[in-house]
Amino acid sequence: MAGEDGVKTFGWAARDTSGILSPFEFTRRATGAKDVRFKVLFCGICHTDLGAARGDLGLPIYPLVPGHEIAGIVTEIGKQVTRFKVGDKVGVGCFVGSCRSCEQCSNDLEPYCPKNIMTYLSIGEDGAPTHGGYSNEMVVDEHFAIRWPENLPLDGGAPLLCAGSTVYSPMMYYGLNKPGSHLGVVGLGGLGHVAVKFAKAWGLTVTVISTSARKEEEAINRLGADKFLVSTDPQQMQEATGTLDGIIDTVSAFHPVMPLFGLLKTHGKLVVVGAPNKPLEVDIFPLMIGRKMLASSAAAGIKETQEMIDFAAKHNITADVEVIPANYVNKAMERLEKGDVRYRFVIDIGNTLVAAPST
Ligand code: NAP
Ligand code: ZN
Ligand code: ZN
Repeated sequence: MAGEDGVKTFGWAARDTSGILSPFEFTRRATGAKDVRFKVLFCGICHTDLGAARGDLGLPIYPLVPGHEIAGIVTEIGKQVTRFKVGDKVGVGCFVGSCRSCEQCSNDLEPYCPKNIMTYLSIGEDGAPTHGGYSNEMVVDEHFAIRWPENLPLDGGAPLLCAGSTVYSPMMYYGLNKPGSHLGVVGLGGLGHVAVKFAKAWGLTVTVISTSARKEEEAINRLGADKFLVSTDPQQMQEATGTLDGIIDTVSAFHPVMPLFGLLKTHGKLVVVGAPNKPLEVDIFPLMIGRKMLASSAAAGIKETQEMIDFAAKHNITADVEVIPANYVNKAMERLEKGDVRYRFVIDIGNTLVAAPST
């Protein structure tokens, strides 16, 4: 239902640090002059959703509706909207607001704006907690909405809005996209498998570095990686010493990073985009003698997210997804924690998210 009073919305929310999600009704702001409102059709499940639901990412705001890989169809536009019309496909990633005037915003780097508003786990401009895409309706300023390429599927494309953007942006910024160079991708999950696909589209040689020996066959034959290292096998790691120009580390948990520096050539860069909930341990000396770099990155700004989506569509890059019904979401979270997904769960919101009948 629309109206002056806001958009009645139904979703699944975490209520406490158990992270267990349950049905939740709430109201989104009414569609403002610069807003697009859309019907959510698909939403990916990022590992960050799991951490956020359990309150691992700082102060949780409960109830919390996660989801920042959101794709759908525009149902209403504000009077001043210029880039969308009703019926357009649309996407929203990790951010729904920023100050629009600071140095970072002026350079299309909204994720680094000190006043950025995340799709969930923030307070919105209306003073209410933001809620993500495990819900049937979104209302967002058109600046933060991504135009959807016609040939990109909504289900396989949705995860690109966070997973794709979070690996694409550092690969561009740190120059890890140069054809012929050799990239390592650590952790073959949602982010990692998309990183392999972008790197291959740029013409890089790709080595996957994984704890799961059973992923080797699919990494090479399905995702197109060139080499595969089991990170817990010291001999394999030793043999690959000094072979990589750069590494994108997507691991979601604490893990040793010093063996990864050993894989880098002189001047190599290790870019950690995973968000372990314990500090990583770094010995500076091996970095010093190889002039190696440790760096990190958030997801892409809005302009770059659009470029990434257009690039993905042009190169037929989508995430490998397991599409699930909304009422499977708690089971999916359990399986995600165990690494039991190839490689992204995507909730079929459009067909399966049903509000409880009102009494
Ligand atoms: P995911 O699908 O669960 O993948 C993470 C991968 O890390 C797993 O598939 C596994 O790969 C590896 N891994 C897990 N536990 C490990 C351990 N104890 N030791 C070594 N490797 C382990 O998660 P995701 O959605 O890709 O997200 C990855 C991380 O990035 C999360 O921490 C997430 O919060 C973070 N993230 C950050 C940003 C950002 O803005 N920087 C954005 C999105 C997500 P193998 O089986 O191949 O070892
Ligand atoms: Zn994410
Ligand atoms: Zn700003």
